[in-house]
Amino acid sequence: MSCTADDVVAALRAGADVVAAHRGELVEMDREIGDADHGENMDRGFRAVMAKLDTSSPDTPAAALKLAATVLISSVGGASGPLYGTALLRAASAAGDAAELDGPAVAALLQSGLDGVVARGHAELGDKTMVDVLVPAAEAAGNAAEGGQDSAGVLRSAAQAAQEAAENTRPLVARKGRASYLGERSAGHVDPGARSTALLLGAFAESAGV
Ligand code: ADP
Ligand code: MG
Ligand code: MG
Repeated sequence: MSCTADDVVAALRAGADVVAAHRGELVEMDREIGDADHGENMDRGFRAVMAKLDTSSPDTPAAALKLAATVLISSVGGASGPLYGTALLRAASAAGDAAELDGPAVAALLQSGLDGVVARGHAELGDKTMVDVLVPAAEAAGNAAEGGQDSAGVLRSAAQAAQEAAENTRPLVARKGRASYLGERSAGHVDPGARSTALLLGAFAESAGV
């Protein structure tokens, strides 16, 4: 199975649903080590993406990703909007003008998304951010693609790695973003952006039919 523009739109819809369902949880997580708005930021951004998709039908995976990127960057005030937006913009570039994405293409998309987040936010592995989820997710995706998995299998591998990786941010001391202002007191809490990345990847994988 390959991933078409319609599949990307369906994945974005699944992402909007999961973010809405976990809005309160993400707010509470961000209350512990940030400013209590991550759930609101993500929900506002994804609702704006859905609104935009009511009036436009992207005809390639890249066009769908770029639409979402542009809307997230312009509608989310927090750090997460430009970071997720940049990830999706880079993913769109990686998708090029392909009509369908196979397993290796989806893995390349994830790697490009990660590269975008790092280029924008300069976080390193272990800084307690969404990068701590994207690195193992992109690696798992690459391995799955090399093992011959299709786009759904690649997403499933990424999502599985992401769940565990988000939980692994709990003991870390934050070195980027608002949580870093807390220093040692940021330890003992899962990073909200790590959690939202894992939720999104889980939703994308489920939407791909696994
Ligand atoms: P804000 O911190 O501006 O209120 P959000 O609460 O929406 O924005 O997003 C916070 C999340 O953004 C953090 O949990 C973290 O995962 C992520 N984040 C913050 N700064 C960076 C960065 N420099 N690089 C990568 N991710 C970051
Ligand atoms: Mg916040
Ligand atoms: Mg904020």
